[in-house]
Amino acid sequence: MGGKIKKKIKNKNDKYRVIIINREKIKEYIVSRAQILMFERITILFVLIITTLIVTMLFFTVKYKEYKSFFKNNSDILALRERIAKEDKEKENELKNIQSITLDNINNLPREKKNLLMEIIPSSYPFKEAHDITSGFGMRQHPIDNQEKEHKGIDLRANIGDEVISPAIGTVIFAGQQSGYGNVVIIEHMFGFQTLYGHLNEIDVSVGEKVGKGKVIAKAGNTGRSTGPHLHYEVKYEGVQINPENFVKWNEKNFDIIFKNERSVKWEYFLTIVGKN
Ligand SMILES: [Zn+2]
Repeated sequence: MGGKIKKKIKNKNDKYRVIIINREKIKEYIVSRAQILMFERITILFVLIITTLIVTMLFFTVKYKEYKSFFKNNSDILALRERIAKEDKEKENELKNIQSITLDNINNLPREKKNLLMEIIPSSYPFKEAHDITSGFGMRQHPIDNQEKEHKGIDLRANIGDEVISPAIGTVIFAGQQSGYGNVVIIEHMFGFQTLYGHLNEIDVSVGEKVGKGKVIAKAGNTGRSTGPHLHYEVKYEGVQINPENFVKWNEKNFDIIFKNERSVKWEYFLTIVGKN
């Protein structure tokens, strides 16, 4: 249709004279009142439809922008959610894998299970950090007697006052003096393990006290028959001294070494503790 209604003039026959200016040309039409009304209605409907379309489009554009910015602003949250989902999946797989854990592939044990075993079984140095081993386990020339004698533990280099910590959960069963070893602490751990600490300068626990892994139990010293400050450290399994070196070097990264190097312990039994049936 084009153009616009310039003028509407009512006449006697209920007819209207409509003048339309279109591209500088002037046209004149005689239309009925019904035609005018129809034209007006169509125009209103058309405008309504267009308005509705525009509003709808605007609405979706705004919503889309909000949606996009949500993902942009919350990428951290979304990444976290993804990671948690991934970790859950991994845990699920780990649980399945526990059933296939043996002493040969025990390195595959989930971290929390490794930590559990290292809380129960004496692990790592009985100090907060590694200390040199100055005398190993087994037969040796005794530094004082100068005779071939069995060394039932290891000697760890230490300064007087170095904090000695419990290498696992346990109960103090001895805290006092023993001939040769001076001030001594003995801790009983679970499943047949015991640890002994000799030549102590100071004892910080008493008999019957429960200790967690990492608890300070004493200070290193030079008491008893000792040629200089050091810690004499013993690990016993079912009443027999075994080589503590395997235990002090045992940690999460070198997890399998204890099972390979210390064969006198019934390790298979410990797999039941970590959930293998
Ligand atoms: Zn010793």
